[in-house]
Amino acid sequence: MSQKVAFIGLGVMGYPMAGHLQQQGFDVCVFNRTTSKANKWCEQYAGRMAKSPAEAATNAEIVFLCVGNDDDVREVVLAEQGVLQTMAAGSVLVDHSTVSAQVARELYASCKGKQVGFVDAPVSGGQAGAENGQLTVMAGGDVVDFDRVEPAIQSFARCCKLLGSSGSGQLAKMMNQICIAGVVQGLAEALHFGQQAGMDCAAVIEVISQGAAQSWQMQNRYQTMLKGEYEHGFAVDWMRKDLNIALQEARNNGSTLPLTALVDQFYADVQKMGGNRWDTSSLLTRFK
Ligand code: NAP
Repeated sequence: MSQKVAFIGLGVMGYPMAGHLQQQGFDVCVFNRTTSKANKWCEQYAGRMAKSPAEAATNAEIVFLCVGNDDDVREVVLAEQGVLQTMAAGSVLVDHSTVSAQVARELYASCKGKQVGFVDAPVSGGQAGAENGQLTVMAGGDVVDFDRVEPAIQSFARCCKLLGSSGSGQLAKMMNQICIAGVVQGLAEALHFGQQAGMDCAAVIEVISQGAAQSWQMQNRYQTMLKGEYEHGFAVDWMRKDLNIALQEARNNGSTLPLTALVDQFYADVQKMGGNRWDTSSLLTRFK
């Protein structure tokens, strides 16, 4: 018989992730706050839907979440209709949202109190990665829980690794976002410089992307940046959420993140220009 799982949050990421689970033979029950998305998902994947997170989690061996920020995760887990109300001892909760390490540790403790496992498992790879089932998953938690959920995660991931105790997945995701912030700003500055210098920027990038300056951002975003198109994925609002999580964690652990703090302020400028939903490569617009 198929393993029963639940998926809470059918957004840009969760919708296709839950779809991959269903297509891989898991018996998926979904919940989405906006019911129309859950209806659409059920029609597309011939799956089941519930009226609350708690109902979706009933009898599920694994419960997946992919929602928004710390408070959203707390709400779908701990509220009166949250998943922890109905999760059985021995089941495992997997949180794919990008949130603080603090909330991961809090929920790990709440789950342990009910003999439920908890794995923080934020993802990288964006909408395309979710749709193609090619996400990178950074996990934190206990080995025994990770081993139980990893086969299901493989339905939508090309890489999934346990990186330490509870909260380590979120800390790894912070490192990921710190790297991206600096790389995107560097690329934006290079393109701005090239335009001011009257260079054929596309021709230059085709050459320098063969050398040490190469990056995913360069390969995948330079053309759209030169065209001024900023509708290609991860939104500025989400990036600021993630950078602020990293900056807060840095205050806790004594690290200094001057570049991250600066780029966060540059994204604040982009928000003031109305770019809340533009993708992260929109840093170039600040130079116009
Ligand atoms: P999204 O499209 O905005 O979807 C968010 C989902 O969470 C929606 O289904 C929303 O329900 C639900 N939700 C939010 N708050 C809720 C609450 N308090 N109670 C119940 N449901 C709630 O977001 P997304 O792009 O899928 O991102 C989800 C998470 O993955 C975020 O933590 C994000 O940082 C992370 N992430 C995103 C990307 C990306 O490229 N988009 C990449 C990596 C990681 P409604 O439909 O009712 O609004």
